[in-house]
Amino acid sequence: MPLPRRRGRLAALLLVGSVVAAACGTDAEESEAATTTTPAPAQTAAPEQPAPPEAPTSTGADGIPGAVAPPGGSAPADPGAPPADPAPDAPAEPVAPAGPVGSMAARYLRASGSERVLVQVLAQDGAGPRTAAPERVRQVLAELSGKSVAVAVAGVGGGARSWTSEELRSLADGSAPVQTAEQAVLTLLYLRGGFAENERAVGVAVRGDVAAVFAERVDEAAGMLGSESAVEDAVTMHEVGHLLGLVDLVLDTGRQDPEHPGHSPNRGSVMYYAVESTLLGSVLSGGPPRDFDQADLDDLARIRNG
Ligand SMILES: [Zn+2]
Repeated sequence: MPLPRRRGRLAALLLVGSVVAAACGTDAEESEAATTTTPAPAQTAAPEQPAPPEAPTSTGADGIPGAVAPPGGSAPADPGAPPADPAPDAPAEPVAPAGPVGSMAARYLRASGSERVLVQVLAQDGAGPRTAAPERVRQVLAELSGKSVAVAVAGVGGGARSWTSEELRSLADGSAPVQTAEQAVLTLLYLRGGFAENERAVGVAVRGDVAAVFAERVDEAAGMLGSESAVEDAVTMHEVGHLLGLVDLVLDTGRQDPEHPGHSPNRGSVMYYAVESTLLGSVLSGGPPRDFDQADLDDLARIRNG
């Protein structure tokens, strides 16, 4: 979750003279295709659809875009109404829509939260994923949750643009399966263009169940490192970490980076703030960390165990 007002700090970090090392030996990711174990609802998204009204209920400590409550999107119009009796052969009944980033963490991780998890990848042409990042997410999520986790990949239309949070949520709502009590859906968008609310954002989490990775920003961040795949892999896991509640979006451990709320203070954690910034190469000259550190894993275990 990039924070727009952090640009000043990031720029300041540049000014203090971080020397960028060009070499990066972390690009070991195989470019195998993401495993598809569940049929994808191959639909074409309509990014131009009118945006529903924004609910200005930011819960982030400092206005984290991803911590803005969902606007409703394609959610049931009246969540307070009693559920209608489903037909005998009706599909699984939708559950309440996801809330702010972190609100789905228990559904993804806890046994009581859902029976299985679907990682729904929605990608524009030319936007990736260029690595097996979604498959790594599947493996990590399966290990963390003990659940069956599948990856489904589908294309979405449109081209490069400056995406708002609202447009990203609408895109997901128009193309991904709805959340059900049995199946928790985690949507990863791979898009061209960038994030309208923070031009340095390589990735962003915009709701409890939706995150995006921007291909051109991946290239920009990788420029000095020469490792687009390492950046794509790292930023994907970083955004998934936010959807799983890291750091201190669910718990209150007090360990989040005070300068960058929602992030780890450990430069060796994939949850370090710079991982999702195009200034990544300037801040982390050795390449991006790709894994959760022990503190992250401890938090995830606590969230899972309730
Ligand atoms: Zn972040």
